[in-house]
Amino acid sequence: MNRQVRRCPHCDQLFLPDKYHPRQKYCSSEACRRERRRSYKARYNKLWRQQNPHYFREYWLAYRELK
Ligand SMILES: [Zn+2]
Repeated sequence: MNRQVRRCPHCDQLFLPDKYHPRQKYCSSEACRRERRRSYKARYNKLWRQQNPHYFREYWLAYRELK
């Protein structure tokens, strides 16, 4: 397996990716693990909104009609 030292985009430290996750982008510090989760969630939410473009509009209209 070809593991290379990477630079964490969050804290700018060099780190060696976990051998089970050779493509990991962030280092293993707690703050950066949180950041990784946050960015993963943001990406997931964006994807979800692209796949469900009408959901929020309909939700909002339904909400307004209740008032
Ligand atoms: Zn980091």
